[in-house]
Amino acid sequence: MSEVALQLDGVSRHFGALKAVDEISIAVPSGSRHAVIGPNGAGKSTLFAVIAGTLSPTAGRIALGADDITSMPEHRRAARGLVRTFQHSSLFLRASALQNVQLAVQRQQGLHRWLIPRPRRTAAAAARSMQLLESVGLADRHAQTAGALSHGERRQLEVAVALGADPSVLLLDEPAAGMSASETARFKELVLSLPSDMTILLVEHDLDLVFGLADRVSVLHLGRHLFTGTPQEVRANDDVQRAYLGT
Ligand code: ADP
Ligand code: MG
Repeated sequence: MSEVALQLDGVSRHFGALKAVDEISIAVPSGSRHAVIGPNGAGKSTLFAVIAGTLSPTAGRIALGADDITSMPEHRRAARGLVRTFQHSSLFLRASALQNVQLAVQRQQGLHRWLIPRPRRTAAAAARSMQLLESVGLADRHAQTAGALSHGERRQLEVAVALGADPSVLLLDEPAAGMSASETARFKELVLSLPSDMTILLVEHDLDLVFGLADRVSVLHLGRHLFTGTPQEVRANDDVQRAYLGT
């Protein structure tokens, strides 16, 4: 747990005069379940986009393990193991759940395509994809189109698709948004069941989910880093209370 999977050093993203993300420094230990929370407008989505590589920072440095990835494009970060889910579904709704995962697995395998003959690659991808669907609790839905799945099931499928890219650091973008209480509970179990050496960074609104899932929580407020600690420490922190109460 002492190794750092992801390190932010003085990361900023300003939009003109607006400091959406301002000099944020956070170290995410390897294998941790780390959540970023904060009231509306705190900068969570902007920070997430900067970490994933969708937006470039206006200042600061981001490291994945020992590598500086500050100016690396999103797809190269993903190839290095920093993989995100999308808050607005990026699934192929008319393809089956299995096909959606298989596309991600085959894209990952494509990196090794000259090493393994095609029929063996396809069979291996199908088997791996079924395994991933099973791990997110969707094995019995594998033949359904993504469009026929419930909202919660689609979120589970998005995780399977992300896992297909073999992440060492998995970024979850507000996974509980729009989920029912039972879908959220199920999603929490899914995240808890992921391999313990996988680092999970979660940007999330739902504090019950965060406090039930995360071992460390960073709180943002108006673009600034307010506090990082265990869920208990965060709950007990006066600055955090004030930020949420708006006083
Ligand atoms: P959160 O996700 O915590 O609610 P955001 O990261 O979406 O916060 O937004 C942080 C601040 O940055 C807000 O004041 C928002 O209006 C502003 N903001 C976000 N994206 C842009 C953008 N593309 N251009 C200008 N301002 C933006
Ligand atoms: Mg947001």
